Amino acid sequence: MTRTENTTVAVVGGGPAGVMLGLLLARAGIEVTVLEKHSDFLRDFRGDTIHPSTLQLLDELGLIDEFLKLPHYKAYELAGETDSGRIRLADLKGLGSTRYPYIAFVPQWDFLDLMTDIGRTYPTFRLVMKAEGHTLLTRGRQVTGVRYSDPDGEHELHADLVVAADGRDSRLRDEARLRPRDLGAPMDVAWFRISRKDTDPAGTFGKVTRGDFLVNINRGDYWQLAYLIPKDGYPQLVEAGIQTLRDRIARLLPFLADRTAAELRSFDDVSVLTVALNRLRRWHRPGLLLIGDAAHAMSPIGGVGINLAIQDAVAAANLLYPKLRAGTVTEADLARVQRRRTPPTVVTQGIQRFIQRRVIASVLGGGSDPVRVPAPLRLILSTGLPQRVTGQFIGVGVRPEHVRTPDRGRSAG
Ligand SMILES: Cc1cc2nc3c(=O)[nH]c(=O)nc-3n(C[C@H](O)[C@H](O)[C@H](O)COP(=O)(O)OP(=O)(O)OC[C@H]3O[C@@H](n4cnc5c(N)ncnc54)[C@H](O)[C@@H]3O)c2cc1C
Repeated sequence: MTRTENTTVAVVGGGPAGVMLGLLLARAGIEVTVLEKHSDFLRDFRGDTIHPSTLQLLDELGLIDEFLKLPHYKAYELAGETDSGRIRLADLKGLGSTRYPYIAFVPQWDFLDLMTDIGRTYPTFRLVMKAEGHTLLTRGRQVTGVRYSDPDGEHELHADLVVAADGRDSRLRDEARLRPRDLGAPMDVAWFRISRKDTDPAGTFGKVTRGDFLVNINRGDYWQLAYLIPKDGYPQLVEAGIQTLRDRIARLLPFLADRTAAELRSFDDVSVLTVALNRLRRWHRPGLLLIGDAAHAMSPIGGVGINLAIQDAVAAANLLYPKLRAGTVTEADLARVQRRRTPPTVVTQGIQRFIQRRVIASVLGGGSDPVRVPAPLRLILSTGLPQRVTGQFIGVGVRPEHVRTPDRGRSAG
């Protein structure tokens, strides 16, 4: 069966960027259809870090109380352990500009379920699950919609604007023949979880020693662990065997040694993230805008990916909604979204790249020297100032956005 449908904005991809954009536009009275290829949002080991900048947006949307009812863990600081002891890396407690001075770790599916549940209360919001956007509909150079498939067949969705929020392997980006510039990453990440006991240390921290880098995220009753491996090194890790991974974890975090055999039974319990750091030179074509990971894949450093994707959505909604209402969106309007979001993207990726090169590549490069923080740096860190700066950078970021779109009201009942 083939359907032909019309909407004002077709958003392809129901991740943080697409869902936030859909909600903001629908709330402002613009007709939006969000296409999501999966049947639900249940994906483990995705970005689960909701930073103060996003918490502030949830506050501005009047959703913060509902959000904070979701099971979550609050991290007020981030720390790291090296061979010369523990250091605090980021302090969010001192963030003066926000009422939410912490990172809330929330399963991404809970966050997306909440946002789409709220979205559905607006008559102009439509979410189609199991709907994969695959081909751009065009008239000359102008994108006029998207063809998608769902269990009923192939459909054509015509729209004034198509937004590709379909993530870092964006199909619509390929369709539009836009190619991101690869900025490189020296590592990939093996993710797994191990249960947490009350006697374990509190907090979220990383353990760094020569050749090994493990990040330990406190998720309440379990630890979410990210073990960094050299780029494309996962096959070698698998070849070395699961016992080798268990041994490395036990060496890095001895308190986990009693659980690794039972809980890391094989590499089936491990997920690998191929780290990508890239961005598009051009985020648009007439009638098409790319946002979030589709426009710029972020490194996992700082856990900023979701938050930047959401900031793109807020900026796009703020800048485009009057034009969408008037039916006059031009490519110049889409270029304004890119101009607004390029500086935060470039600065954040620049810092991630610096850390990747100077810290991660050097640690994973091996050698026999222990990883120590030099005494002058320890002295500077002891003032607490650098941690407040990193707390500001991670938590609030560069050019935080605020909701400027109106709320035209939910459906009655
Ligand atoms: C393993 C892993 C761990 C991560 N950890 C963190 C972290 O701790 N903190 C953090 O901030 N970021 C993290 N990230 C990055 C973060 O998840 C992304 O930056 C963020 O989700 C980007 O949001 P997005 O909406 O742009 O894209 P995505 O979240 O990738 O969402 C894209 C959506 O589009 C859907 N889709 C794709 N193609 C189509 C199509 N053709 N048609 C319809 N739907 C489609 C996908 O199913 C998906 O739901 C992690 C990423 C991964 C992969």
